[in-house]
Amino acid sequence: MRNKEKFIVILKPDGFRRKLIGKIINRFEEKGFDILDIKTETLSVKILEEHYVHLKEKVFFQDIVDYMTSGPVVIIAMEGLNGIEAARMLAGSTNSAQADPGSIRGTWALTIDENVIHVSDSVENGEHEYIRFF
Ligand code: ATP
Ligand code: MG
Repeated sequence: MRNKEKFIVILKPDGFRRKLIGKIINRFEEKGFDILDIKTETLSVKILEEHYVHLKEKVFFQDIVDYMTSGPVVIIAMEGLNGIEAARMLAGSTNSAQADPGSIRGTWALTIDENVIHVSDSVENGEHEYIRFF
């Protein structure tokens, strides 16, 4: 079935610092996704507490907030056929050490805690994140 899905990609502060913006957007464009909206900002603790609510009880939660607020990010709204599954594959596994070498995390990251990008993980979360970030 051909299903267009909207989702959010966040180029995290490590990716921004390492000047990977162009390369990473290029990977999504080459895959065939359309960019609907794009902006750069430094995320607030409040928005991250909403965004990562599923990790609030984890011991590393404060580390995620510190990392994600450590500098500017690029937030991109995208759309594409089978968007979420295809975009998550392009991102690679959460733990970059195990990510496919052809994926974004597999190419540019080595650890689970600094893994370069975020990608929405379901159609429903993609919709929520669109509203949250734009
Ligand atoms: P993201 O939501 O950033 O796209 P994900 O959906 O692959 O990543 P989640 O389980 O939602 O994975 O975790 C969100 C983020 O929290 C991860 O991308 C990573 O930066 C951080 N994280 C997850 N698990 C760990 C861990 N065990 N140790 C440190 N950081 C972690
Ligand atoms: Mg996630």
